[in-house]
Amino acid sequence: MKNSNKSTADYDFIIVGGGSAGAVMASRLSENISKKILLIEGGNAYPAWDYPDAISSADNPGGDAAHNWGFQSEPTSYGNKIDLPRGKVLGGSSAINGAVALRARPEDFKKWNLQGWSFEEMLPYFKKLEKSDSGDKELHGFDGPLPVRQLLRSDLTSVQRAFVDSTINIGYKAVEDFDSAQANGVGPYRMNVVNGVRVNTGMAYLSNEVRERKNLTILSQSIADRVLFNGTKAIGILLANGEEFLANEIILSGGTYGSAAVLLRSGIGPKSQLEKLGIPLIAELPVGENVKDHPFHYAAFALHKEMVETKSPPIAAKLWTSAFDSSELDIHITATHLFPDEYSPTQMGFVLGVAVTTPLSKGKVWIETKDPNINPKVDLNFLDDKEDTRRMIEGAKIARRIAAAAPFSKFIHSEIAPGITVQTDQELEVAIKQNIASYAHPTSSAPMGDLNSKEAVVDLQGRVHQVESLRVVDASIFPDIISAATNITVIAVAEKIAEKIAQQNG
Ligand SMILES: Cc1cc2nc3c(=O)[nH]c(=O)nc-3n(C[C@H](O)[C@H](O)[C@H](O)COP(=O)(O)OP(=O)(O)OC[C@H]3O[C@@H](n4cnc5c(N)ncnc54)[C@H](O)[C@@H]3O)c2cc1C
Repeated sequence: MKNSNKSTADYDFIIVGGGSAGAVMASRLSENISKKILLIEGGNAYPAWDYPDAISSADNPGGDAAHNWGFQSEPTSYGNKIDLPRGKVLGGSSAINGAVALRARPEDFKKWNLQGWSFEEMLPYFKKLEKSDSGDKELHGFDGPLPVRQLLRSDLTSVQRAFVDSTINIGYKAVEDFDSAQANGVGPYRMNVVNGVRVNTGMAYLSNEVRERKNLTILSQSIADRVLFNGTKAIGILLANGEEFLANEIILSGGTYGSAAVLLRSGIGPKSQLEKLGIPLIAELPVGENVKDHPFHYAAFALHKEMVETKSPPIAAKLWTSAFDSSELDIHITATHLFPDEYSPTQMGFVLGVAVTTPLSKGKVWIETKDPNINPKVDLNFLDDKEDTRRMIEGAKIARRIAAAAPFSKFIHSEIAPGITVQTDQELEVAIKQNIASYAHPTSSAPMGDLNSKEAVVDLQGRVHQVESLRVVDASIFPDIISAATNITVIAVAEKIAEKIAQQNG
């Protein structure tokens, strides 16, 4: 049965969500002037390079409440709700993120184990997106839309430099380029920041020139409710305000939580969940059942205030390594000035953020209402798997070893969290679990895979199984989380699928 009042398509493609992936899709698909594109974005669309300071300043990762969907997890077993920031603005989460520009590693793609998605097959898209200031030409791109700069030692604050030196002093290697084969170690990383501005995809891919294309319409401050179907063929989008738009193909790029919510409201998901809400089933698929994110532990220290000259850049260097000498780089320890100083006895804090980057624990996203203005529920189930907990405890111990070594130790007045009374593994486990946070890298609510795989929601080109003319292209479709921060890989995935669509459309 057809559930729209209109009969002809208004557009060739409707893209829902103008974030890291959606901005790429809109930009690349509108290069073909014979195709009409509508980009629907829930947040504001500021002119490129004229975003408000609260979100464009790279010194303010996380942005502000006005540009955040304000997701929170369900309470953990210790009763705390975890903040799960997601950007609500053209540029999406790339507009409020840390702007750390790291790629997934070859090992991550090996785990994906999908035809056409090896590291070698992804490399052209990593290069295509990037306008790098330096680096190996075999590995980096120099003509892409996104400016990426390798930070140098001289860019680091004195505290971050001391962190790097102490980490080397306890036996880790210096890394020159985390995108290279030798990424196990410590150093400054690459960032998509220009003159203190976090360059989001709304700036890089939807430049003012691109936005002037006559075949591209951007509808901002518009929430997509659900996909309209004719039988099992997707034909349009219904907005929360009741407006509808028809297209030949619909692409959902609402992010791991946003796309899952639209799919579920549209009747694509676990049957029992949809039945309970009285949503007619279009396709029974495991939407939202296999979500992953990186659990994050704050090892916080009070610094001697008089020794700290500047806190900018707030993030710039990290240790990427393996917890127990496996070949997997499963631990990040990122050195950050992001700490509310009023909580430090010296009025100056510093955080070594420890994350498990190849977690086994799986979470869920689901809806309990058909109302598109109500956020879906999220339970990330962090550290449910014992191996994740074991690795996180080891990461916390590595952070302490770094903090105890000179020259970083000279900056430290005392440990704030977890605190020196926390010593045994058991005590560390409780302290970590009580305050567990998210690294803000959720993936895999609609994983890619063959129809016969029990976790797959979309095929290897992002096309939703069992229906026609509907894709998902964003972090949702990662078949598994990657060991790096996610933004660059999301952009590369979108570049790859956009190119395929463009080829198919002549
Ligand atoms: C605080 C923070 C720090 C991070 N730091 C880093 C980092 O330093 N490096 C890194 O690589 N990654 C980082 N990430 C992660 C990275 O930014 C994300 O993985 C990436 O942006 C996700 O891209 P996406 O396209 O899947 O979703 P998003 O970029 O979130 O895009 C989704 C878009 O869809 C819109 N939308 C959602 N639902 C609807 C709807 N129903 N109707 C209309 N529009 C809708 C949203 O407003 C948004 O614009 C960080 C993320 C956050 C939040």
